[in-house]
Amino acid sequence: MSSTQTPLIVSCPSCKKSLRWTSDNPFRPFCCERCKLIDLGEWADGGHAIPGETLPESADDSEN
Ligand SMILES: [Zn+2]
Repeated sequence: MSSTQTPLIVSCPSCKKSLRWTSDNPFRPFCCERCKLIDLGEWADGGHAIPGETLPESADDSEN
């Protein structure tokens, strides 16, 4: 038997980037600290933030 273990490849929940699930990565299942914070932020906010409504730009045709 070969004792070679292939590292588990997972996708970052935030950016979908493939990364190896190893004890060397303290941010797993995220690829980096930034993605971890982003995901935690979304959880804390209770989901996706609703973007503000875009105000319609009133085209002013007044002559100068
Ligand atoms: Zn990521």
